[in-house]
Amino acid sequence: MATGVTSVLPIHSTYLVDEPRFPFCKGCGHTSVLRRLNEALVELQIPPHRLALVTDIGCIGLADGLFKELHTVHTTHGRSTAFATGIALADSVLDKGSLKTVVLIGDGGAMIGLQHLVHAAVLNVDVTVIICDNFVYGMTGGQGSSVTPECFVTATTPAGNIVPPIDLCAILKASHAPFVARTLATDPTFPQLLQQAIAWEGFAVIEVLELCTEFAVPANNLDGRKLRDIADRNGWTLGVLADRKDRSTFVERWKEGVVKGNGGQVPGDEILRPVGKVPMLKHAKSVILAGSAGERVQSSAGLVCGAAIAGGLFVSQKNDNPVTQGSGFSVSELWFSPEEIVFTGIQRPDIVLITSSDGLKDVLSRSFLDRLDSSSVIYVDDSLPMQETKGIVHRFPFRRVLGAREAALGALVFAAVRQHLVSPEGLQEFLRKHYRGNVDELFARVDCLQETRTEVRA
Ligand code: SF4
Repeated sequence: MATGVTSVLPIHSTYLVDEPRFPFCKGCGHTSVLRRLNEALVELQIPPHRLALVTDIGCIGLADGLFKELHTVHTTHGRSTAFATGIALADSVLDKGSLKTVVLIGDGGAMIGLQHLVHAAVLNVDVTVIICDNFVYGMTGGQGSSVTPECFVTATTPAGNIVPPIDLCAILKASHAPFVARTLATDPTFPQLLQQAIAWEGFAVIEVLELCTEFAVPANNLDGRKLRDIADRNGWTLGVLADRKDRSTFVERWKEGVVKGNGGQVPGDEILRPVGKVPMLKHAKSVILAGSAGERVQSSAGLVCGAAIAGGLFVSQKNDNPVTQGSGFSVSELWFSPEEIVFTGIQRPDIVLITSSDGLKDVLSRSFLDRLDSSSVIYVDDSLPMQETKGIVHRFPFRRVLGAREAALGALVFAAVRQHLVSPEGLQEFLRKHYRGNVDELFARVDCLQETRTEVRA
């Protein structure tokens, strides 16, 4: 990554939108942080398509719309670092790892999502986190956070905060973060620190002490100079606090420790890589597979989805089960499609597979059967009662022929072949590689399935 190229005219003179209108209150430190961030990016000349800006909930989360061309993701409160970690890891594993991911988070979000920060630091993922610390939750009315200094007046501490603030940088330093810095938004060294943090290959965090002019300033008679006093009073050293070159990134360790040990292959990669066979399916089809927890419903769905991917299809799988993992229902909602899937929800399933009474109860509770029409097909274990539905009901002895442990897999294999979701040969080939059970016996039993009754209702 290029850093500090000043001798040639920059290709990107700004990363901000034209005539940006900063939506923050007058004097808010966020404006200064975003201007400095833009300057750092201009200095580093990272191509916009190689930048992902991940914002948290809070006033700073309004930053997304101020930047142009780069990727932006606005996330749930406190979780921005977790999203960024996922983005960075996916980019490293699935692409070239050339994306720079930058998180903008407030002190409230940082405390809510502290575990995510700690985890990103421990992993040492290539993510730069800028914590905009103004000691309050600005967007929700100036409540105190866990970094609010003692005596500080906030909406939740009107008589002054009586508990000591947490030292975020100390926590992250103790969590092996290789680059940790703290500064003031107005400090002349802030732009250089930002450049250093963004150019850092691995996890880097900067805590930026700044002003919330709407709440923190009037309630505490605060100004820029007093921020430095607050830092001194709390022993919050400013500048670079950790600069460790001895830590390899998570991806480096993973490549060395896992990929190398797997003969240079990414484990599981062969499951997800399409082999380019011509898909049998011409139009997208949705499937509900409903059975009992502990009867391999979701892993069966995963196997058939894997075979479909290997056959060149797009698939999506959404699982659900009760909090208790080994009792009650287990359901997978699946899409098989020759085209890219942009929406994974299922309103009216094309195929419903029900292999147990737990599965039937869940399907009924979600009113799937009420929404079917005459083109919908239901394959149901013949021991189960069925209510009125417009779909065509086919009854099969799944549990009697396949047993409880293979009823879900057998039913899905049966439906996938019968409905031409995948080719039987491709499915068998895939299961031989990835299913631990006896594939020949499974297919022999599936072949033995005799329909006991068909019900067609107008
Ligand atoms: S409420 Fe505070 S943090 Fe939010 S924009 Fe206004 S000054 Fe900035």
